Amino acid sequence: MTQPVVTRFAPSPTGFLHIGGARTALFNWLYARGRGGKFLLRIEDTDRERSTPEATAAILQGMAWLGLDHDGEAVSQFERADRHAEVANQLLADGKAYKCFATQEEIAAFREQAKTAGKSTLYRSPWRDADAASHPDAPYVIRIKAPRDGVTVIKDQVQGDVTIRNDQLDDMVLLRSDGTPVYMLAVVVDDHDMGVTHVIRGDDHLNNAARQMTIYEAMGWDVPVWAHIPLIHGPDGKKLSKRHGALGAQEYQAMGYPAAGMRNYLARLGWSHGDDEFFTDSQAKEWFNFDGIGKSPARFDTKKLENLCGQHIAVSDDAALRQEISEYLAAAGKPALTDAQSQGLEAAMYCLKDRARTFPELLEKAHFILASRPLERDEKAEKALASVSDGILEELTPQLQNASWVRDDLEALLNVFAEAHDTKFGKLAGPLRAALAGRAVTPSVFDMMLILGRDETIARLKDATG
Ligand code: GLU
Repeated sequence: MTQPVVTRFAPSPTGFLHIGGARTALFNWLYARGRGGKFLLRIEDTDRERSTPEATAAILQGMAWLGLDHDGEAVSQFERADRHAEVANQLLADGKAYKCFATQEEIAAFREQAKTAGKSTLYRSPWRDADAASHPDAPYVIRIKAPRDGVTVIKDQVQGDVTIRNDQLDDMVLLRSDGTPVYMLAVVVDDHDMGVTHVIRGDDHLNNAARQMTIYEAMGWDVPVWAHIPLIHGPDGKKLSKRHGALGAQEYQAMGYPAAGMRNYLARLGWSHGDDEFFTDSQAKEWFNFDGIGKSPARFDTKKLENLCGQHIAVSDDAALRQEISEYLAAAGKPALTDAQSQGLEAAMYCLKDRARTFPELLEKAHFILASRPLERDEKAEKALASVSDGILEELTPQLQNASWVRDDLEALLNVFAEAHDTKFGKLAGPLRAALAGRAVTPSVFDMMLILGRDETIARLKDATG
């Protein structure tokens, strides 16, 4: 029987959820969820100077927005410091680690000499093989006895076999002289204790993997499957930075991108399944594997993101969209919709969601249902209205008064009306949009009339000609 998959996301809480971190979390989530496995969350808060509770909260919020639910409680790495120290002491007891009494000055002097002699500056402690009887009563660190001969091979699912000569590994410190564990030890102990089977993370951690493997091996623990994924670049091929635009996952929520579209786009960022661009979560879970992850950095492309977001909005459930839009408004610090606006929005959703790539675009189209009389018209709407004489719209109102309020009849009525004025309906559409919505970009005139109803339609026409 194969072992159940356990993945994890292990952010350091020093800021918001970075778009690259969100993608790492998503890959881990997809890998686990597609295999009936578990997806765990560990907050790597050992750096007390830089870790903040606000950053932890921001990361959790970002993950919640993206729907990346984790199994069980989030683990705090800092709270496990005793266990990390216990492992360092066990390695010491087993002779796999040693006490090193070298002072900072001695280490600096060693490096200086090695440099002058043109040798490797990797510190080689004289305490590695020292007899316990020679130990002074002085502060010490615990160092691992790293292998010096042979090679360490990281069997990486993305990068292939990465081989590191063991003479390039130093005896890294596991426990500082104040008894606190180093980060590298904490990661290995936590991954082991949490039962993590697959470590999927940015390839900036590839070098750490070799050093972490020495701990796995010294403890006789199973090494997890490694998958180091290339970082994300900007459209110019340089490492993604502020210059390229927003970096925080939640900034995308505040800009009005739907979470489903964002998930789809982030999944495509560095991973592919044939030529599929648009897919659902269940397809992504079913398809996601290491074979589809590219070796070179993916480039962030806002156009593609928008395009996918538009496709997701178009197929989303109306009530769910309404809910997500109210969350977007809160995230963007915009006023909430009233109940009436919210109901109107949902009723109109069928004719709003087709070509909107973001929620602000959708809300712009929804202006006709969100605004109330008297409507303020934007410049384009004013211009459109000025292109016909008031008389025409005035003549229209009594006809609408008696019309049957169904799409086909309204269409027929307006076509006949246009013909009677020696014009086409197309010429009247602009001014009618302006009168009904105060905007130039709107759903079709008929959709607006049907949604607004007869009285409101006529009242708006009157306002526009009054
Ligand atoms: N805490 C590390 C980071 O935020 C990730 C460590 C890991 O995934 O092993 O980059």
